[in-house]
Amino acid sequence: MSDTPAASVMDAIVSLCKRRGFIYPASEIYGGIRGFWDYGPLGVLLKNNIRDDWWRNMVECPPIGPDGQPVEIVGLDSAIIQHPKVWHASGHVDSFNDPMVDDRETKGRYRADHVKVLVPRDGQGNSFAFVEDREAAEKKIKRDARRNPTDYDEVILTTLPPEAYARVVGPDTRTPGTLTEPRAFSLMLDTYPGPIRDEDNKTYLRPETAQGIFLQFKNVVDTTRVKVPFGIAQVGKSFRNEVTPRNFIFRSREFEQMELEFFCPPDDALMWYEFWRAQRMAWWQSLGIDPSHLCYRDHDADELAFYSKATVDIEYKYPFTAPGFGELEGIAHRGDYDLSQHAKHSGQKLDYFDQDLQLRLKEQGTSAEEIKTRSRYVPNVIEPSSGLTRGVLVLLCEAYRRDESRPSGEYLAFKPSLAPVKVGIFPLVNKEGMPEIASKLYMDLRQKYTCEFDAKQSIGKRYARMDEIGTPYCVTIDGDTLKDQTVTVRDRDSATQQRINIDQVGSYLNERLSG
Ligand code: ATP
Repeated sequence: MSDTPAASVMDAIVSLCKRRGFIYPASEIYGGIRGFWDYGPLGVLLKNNIRDDWWRNMVECPPIGPDGQPVEIVGLDSAIIQHPKVWHASGHVDSFNDPMVDDRETKGRYRADHVKVLVPRDGQGNSFAFVEDREAAEKKIKRDARRNPTDYDEVILTTLPPEAYARVVGPDTRTPGTLTEPRAFSLMLDTYPGPIRDEDNKTYLRPETAQGIFLQFKNVVDTTRVKVPFGIAQVGKSFRNEVTPRNFIFRSREFEQMELEFFCPPDDALMWYEFWRAQRMAWWQSLGIDPSHLCYRDHDADELAFYSKATVDIEYKYPFTAPGFGELEGIAHRGDYDLSQHAKHSGQKLDYFDQDLQLRLKEQGTSAEEIKTRSRYVPNVIEPSSGLTRGVLVLLCEAYRRDESRPSGEYLAFKPSLAPVKVGIFPLVNKEGMPEIASKLYMDLRQKYTCEFDAKQSIGKRYARMDEIGTPYCVTIDGDTLKDQTVTVRDRDSATQQRINIDQVGSYLNERLSG
């Protein structure tokens, strides 16, 4: 990111994403549909690279646990649509709501807890609401109230008493008293599988992937060799009928999550919470994100769900939150809430008999009574839950650079192993034997890396395009290649070129693209 104002950085990123095929508005030829996005040819590569890195670090090569042994994690791909009772048991039908306010005049609709209000400190006159643009609200104060914005306090709309609403000027109007009082708005998107469309057949598109994991906890324990502590990981689509989808793909109505439910003995839950808290931060940093752009935000006691002993968010400094931070991942200690709820609502036992613990307690001489009660328990759950599509946004924001000295004027400095295209292969001119050599190199390298072969346009234009899509290396075959078998390799970040032997291209890339 550069020092350019936030709005223009975001505008530039959104425009680059569209222009180069990362992200398009969904249904664009029909005018678009709010809160939905399509991932284009490069966007899907970038998204898959993040997903694959997470999967590799969670399922294929999980981290080393506090006991020095690799943590045990298995994968799952559960259905998006589940039995309606699932969503009653999980609490989503009753309480997965956001407070919403409407503007009677403009028909605008806002998440009430996202609306901020500048309230006059002396209690005289109107208050001025805004969603993000505080400056616009301050301008209104100067114009309409002819007062100084520094004489106002900033509060969240939902903290105002109902009688104060009559004096609030809405974010997009100049008349006070047009905002309704907040009311609960369900984020669940319903659907009716099967031929009959009635209340009995109504279920929901999942608002998180986590519940599918809890539903299969028993099957996984019974049919595989896992033992508590262990985790089940899942990546997939989730749907939330967000009141105000905004900030590009940050808050959308259809998005992807990467979730781990880590099941552990109740006595060890806090230790595993600390473990995952540290691991998840380390993973985001391993994607090349500047540590100073990430932070933890521990939830205050009054913010915690009643069943949660601790929850922390990992936040990122998005251009639209800077200098503040916004959520990227939540890590929650969920106690035994989910398994207990599903046990209660389904009538199935979801507890676990811990044979290892039984043996350990026996060795310690624990009484038979105590062994019996302690070795059968409902596991506690630590849940690191992150947004995959939000991760795409973070990597785009993190990689975006302005550089007026380049023909492209901007480039994306992705960590090489995450870049959608790893290598561009170019014959300098499309003749004199160069395309043949370039094509041979391309046929070789494409076995291992996503490569692009391009023989059109000037070499400067080809480099500019590769800078814009964040390709870390470009290999150019020129007149000298014919004489001495050397090629130039251009490095995206330094924009410098190096001559190496064509036989060394493979090892050169290997060194730089692994890990
Ligand atoms: P918020 O408070 O911002 O609505 P949340 O706390 O409800 O988010 P979680 O339920 O903890 O979010 O979801 C876990 C992760 O899923 C979030 O950290 C985020 O990365 C991602 N996520 C949640 N909602 C959305 C959305 N509407 N669009 C994109 N990603 C989302």
